[in-house]
Amino acid sequence: MLHLDDPGLDATTARVLRGYQRRVDNVGSYPGQVAAGKRLFERYNRRTNRVFKVVRTSLADMCAGARRCGYCEDSVGDEVEHIKPKDLYPQKVFVWENYLFACGQCNGGKNNRFSVISRGRLRDVTRRRNAPVRRPRAGAPALINPRDEDPLGFFDLEITETFVFLPRMDLSEIDEQRAHYTIDTLKLNRDVLLEARREAYGAYRARLFEYRQRRDDGASGTALRILSDAIMTSAHPTVWREMQRQRSLVGELRDLFSDVPEALSW
Ligand SMILES: [Zn+2]
Repeated sequence: MLHLDDPGLDATTARVLRGYQRRVDNVGSYPGQVAAGKRLFERYNRRTNRVFKVVRTSLADMCAGARRCGYCEDSVGDEVEHIKPKDLYPQKVFVWENYLFACGQCNGGKNNRFSVISRGRLRDVTRRRNAPVRRPRAGAPALINPRDEDPLGFFDLEITETFVFLPRMDLSEIDEQRAHYTIDTLKLNRDVLLEARREAYGAYRARLFEYRQRRDDGASGTALRILSDAIMTSAHPTVWREMQRQRSLVGELRDLFSDVPEALSW
């Protein structure tokens, strides 16, 4: 998981989206807003809706590689995910900053599960089935939000053996809890992801070897750019970031990056 740069929305789309949100906000009671938010989102989040067509295109621009999920980077991101669940936060149903493209597995796994930080602790605010529809306890989200935080400030990806995400060593207690919570909620260490990250590591490494070889053989700037572009648009960009970040700890990477220092800015 990496920080996602916001490509922005054009003024017209942003205005219509705000109009949708006002329709939710104008419903009097909180339970009414929850119901209206769900109903209207289902109505507007369609491929035939012009505004959501633009929203989806902008979310695709925000994705890594070939429109990969903003959480796991593995599967295609094609579901408009509410970072803050719409069941709990109807005031965020049509808020652009609350969206990202997620895959079905991440979105489905997270579902309405949510926790906030309150009085220095993580508190689960997930609404259980058939529970009364009340506002969740106030507090900052526990889930690390790749739209406004840098996940690499919270996680290290182990890139020599296991390819698991772990909380960084130097975190405060609450940030460590947030990191664990995010890994568990999104199942960021599911088996298929570990395998995919291992493969991505091999592919990045092979491309970097190839780049060094071709460069040393005198390949043209254009040919080299094709190779560097291929690295920058590959799947699992977190693996690449971690290869750069942890290069001094891994012998083969230390040598490769010291031969190809330009790759540190890719
Ligand atoms: Zn995913």
